[in-house]
Amino acid sequence: MSTELRHWHREDDPQGITWLILDKADSRSNTLSADVLEELAKLLAGLTSAPPRGVIVRSGKDGSFIAGADIGEFKALVDPEQTYELVRQGQQVIDDLAALPCPTVAMIDGHALGGGLELALACDYRVCAEEDRGTLGLPEVQLGIHPGFGGTARSVRLLGAPAAMDLMLTGRMLRPARARAIGLVDRVVPREQLRRAAREFIQRRPPKRRPGLMLRVLGLPGLRAAVAWRLRREVSKRASEAHYPAPYALIDLWQRHGGHGRRAIDAEARSIATLFATPTCRNLVRVFFLRERMKSLAPKSTPAPQHLHVIGAGVMGGDIAAWAVTQGLEVSLQDQDTAAIERALARAGEQFDRRYRTEPGRADARRRLRADPEGHAVPEADIIIEAIVERLEVKRGLFADLERSARPDALLATNTSSLRLEDIAESLEQPGRLVGIHFFNPVSRLPLVEIVHGRDTQSAVLERALAFTVAIGKLPLPCSSQPGFLVNRILAPYMAEAMSLHEEGVPLAVIDAAARSFGMPMGPVELADSVGLDVALHVAEILGAALGRSPPAALREKVEAGDLGRKTGRGFYRYRDGRKVDDPGRATVAGASEDLEDRLILPMVNEAVACHADGVVDDLELLDAGVIFGTGFAPFRGGPIQYARSRGLAATRARLEALAGRYGERFRPHPGWSALIDADASPGET
Ligand code: NAD
Repeated sequence: MSTELRHWHREDDPQGITWLILDKADSRSNTLSADVLEELAKLLAGLTSAPPRGVIVRSGKDGSFIAGADIGEFKALVDPEQTYELVRQGQQVIDDLAALPCPTVAMIDGHALGGGLELALACDYRVCAEEDRGTLGLPEVQLGIHPGFGGTARSVRLLGAPAAMDLMLTGRMLRPARARAIGLVDRVVPREQLRRAAREFIQRRPPKRRPGLMLRVLGLPGLRAAVAWRLRREVSKRASEAHYPAPYALIDLWQRHGGHGRRAIDAEARSIATLFATPTCRNLVRVFFLRERMKSLAPKSTPAPQHLHVIGAGVMGGDIAAWAVTQGLEVSLQDQDTAAIERALARAGEQFDRRYRTEPGRADARRRLRADPEGHAVPEADIIIEAIVERLEVKRGLFADLERSARPDALLATNTSSLRLEDIAESLEQPGRLVGIHFFNPVSRLPLVEIVHGRDTQSAVLERALAFTVAIGKLPLPCSSQPGFLVNRILAPYMAEAMSLHEEGVPLAVIDAAARSFGMPMGPVELADSVGLDVALHVAEILGAALGRSPPAALREKVEAGDLGRKTGRGFYRYRDGRKVDDPGRATVAGASEDLEDRLILPMVNEAVACHADGVVDDLELLDAGVIFGTGFAPFRGGPIQYARSRGLAATRARLEALAGRYGERFRPHPGWSALIDADASPGET
């Protein structure tokens, strides 16, 4: 009975069509949680016994169809047998929808992702609003699983293996027009015509879409093995099976069952139940929630700024300005050197050309970024970010001027990498107004922004900085003002150890390969070359002075020789047009010392413990999140602290002791390990 329903509404219209409307209670978006599926099962039972002329499934939420399964429920899925039973129940509901004895249409307005798209795939037809705001996709691999509501089979049956496997293996999101082009949806219409289009499918019952003959031939058992071999080879270039088992499991499923028959659906449930229990899935789900947690740090009541003024149009300032424009802000850009502003505007223009497909979109972005060499816009700005040369006295002078000319309620922020906030703020009458908003290079690609508070930073100022960062689509990490903050401090020992290994004669490519085989996106040598060896040396010097470590000699030699890495065409590697030219191909770590990986990774873990003990970041979860989103630390390992926990905290500390005995004091475990080990031993007290 409809009165028992909290999430779904049923409406029967005069044409004999039943509308099933999902509007999940107490939630901003629709997800397929267990209770949502249970209610759907009840509705479908009624429709099976008394079928209407047709059924249309739609969302009651504006701008979103169904965002996917309820990821919050994934945490409980640890026992593969129980998970299998639960997945089978979910599959059964979606199967019941597919088996209704009347035509069915999914009316998609906004996002249809994961389980949401799987539900749509179980309908006979899919119509979609043409608006750009919606995307369709099966992104489950990003959480270490694959579709589990029959989507692995239904997508292949609808699209053919190549397009379906591409969608699932990459987790790619498609705009409606692209989804139509590959056959994922049957029609794309303007939003106001959606209902009519959905009804038309019920009235006319056109033949259901199926892939062409060639694509069906590819799915024959004899050919599947060869196609699967090619798919595995492609996937192995991006991810190893040991680290990311889901894409391989997906290919296995298709190779064995070809997307057909009951056995394919049952095998999907078995496979996903196994994947849910893997550390990879558990860590990736954790990372998903860490991301959500960082976004939730922004206080909801704080209004997002409209006008950003950036001072310094160099590498960072120019890119911060361009990024903020793409996030909808009005931006004025100041620099004492007008040529720097011109270069920054040209770079921003290229970015806008790539991002906006229409000329009005590009023109609007260009209009929202204006050159302001004299800083006339300062008194109007809601927030001012300084990204000028890294010299204390120059920054101090600038902020003293800004305090006089900016609005009293404007947020004053510095992008400094290495100066203490307290030192810069000394020139201010109200030092509590200054906050650090530390972006990483390249701004458009790196999601993390460190929000740095000094001794005096007011909490309201900090909150506004958090709100600004989330409003421009970045992930904020609150840090205290200590040398290197979090990310640079974690990366420094990683790069330094790479230099030590190099001096011992380990080939650079082997060092990088060892880090990549652990799961880092880039080896430490490649990373140093990409960041710029001058920047890396500068950070190493600052940290060296603060923590009593001398910067690596190899780094200094390169910088003195003018070899600054990728940007000068020569660093530890050589580059042409930004691409490595002396790449020795696939270096292998086989035969290298078994200590190699630990020598690179454990110093980062040790430094993470030190950062926690020193109060750079108080919260261990946020610390893991910061290292993952700031350094790319293998997400499937869950971050440095989680990784240490997976090896055992005491065992990891003992391993560092052993490395210190063999290679030197730099491996000595930080005293902060004891508190962590004690806290984990008595979790009730933390
Ligand atoms: P950059 O040298 O590329 O640009 C600095 C710009 O500031 C130049 O265009 C210069 O003309 C201008 N400038 C200098 N003094 C000025 C003044 N008084 N008024 C107006 N303009 C002035 O430097 P960058 O690499 O963009 O770094 C800028 C800031 O960002 C520094 O504080 C740095 O520590 C920090 N940072 C740099 C990186 C990086 O990777 N480069 C990363 C994060 C943070």
